[in-house]
Amino acid sequence: MEHILKAAIILAAAVFSVTGCGNAGSMAPKLSPAEKSLIGRTGIMRVLTVDNREDSLLLRSECSDFRARDLKSKTFKVLSERMIATVTDPSQDGVGIAGPQVGLKRRVVAVMRYDKPGTPFEIYPNIHIEYLSDETQCGPEGCLSIPDISGNVVRSQKIIIRYTDPETIETVRDTVEGYTAVIFQHEADHLDGILFTDKVVNTGPGQ
Ligand SMILES: [Zn+2]
Repeated sequence: MEHILKAAIILAAAVFSVTGCGNAGSMAPKLSPAEKSLIGRTGIMRVLTVDNREDSLLLRSECSDFRARDLKSKTFKVLSERMIATVTDPSQDGVGIAGPQVGLKRRVVAVMRYDKPGTPFEIYPNIHIEYLSDETQCGPEGCLSIPDISGNVVRSQKIIIRYTDPETIETVRDTVEGYTAVIFQHEADHLDGILFTDKVVNTGPGQ
């Protein structure tokens, strides 16, 4: 019994350290040499697609946060620049991209902020969605990793995101609404191995 109690206390302490300290990424594994090598290549990144078996498995993986130390590194800066260069490249021309789509099982997304002047692409490491409104919106989605398919998906109208600011390493929360909130929900799903086709209410070739 004492044993079980001790285990329960240790477990409670572990849960507290994950959720209670507010320092996102503190439990994250460090970037591996393979990850650093993938990030360190030049040019745009290869976008993984579901029609390749190995890619498909990676696209279904759960992702880890980044350590604060890795977010402060040159490697993360290079990753940010390369992810944005990839999603904005005429060959892709997307509105968002997530870590697994460029081969990394890491919680990072680049999102086009339709709700900000100049619609800039911004990078959000260690992103988690903390709140999803009951009020929903339904609209067509596509995905760089699922060529030639589109379909309608029901998403929350308003969300609250939590992420780590890569400059200050502070935890930041932001309320996002409308189409930009749809992009965040689509990209955050990728980090849990979920694809929009899992949620689609109808599909069609290249609608
Ligand atoms: Zn996608």
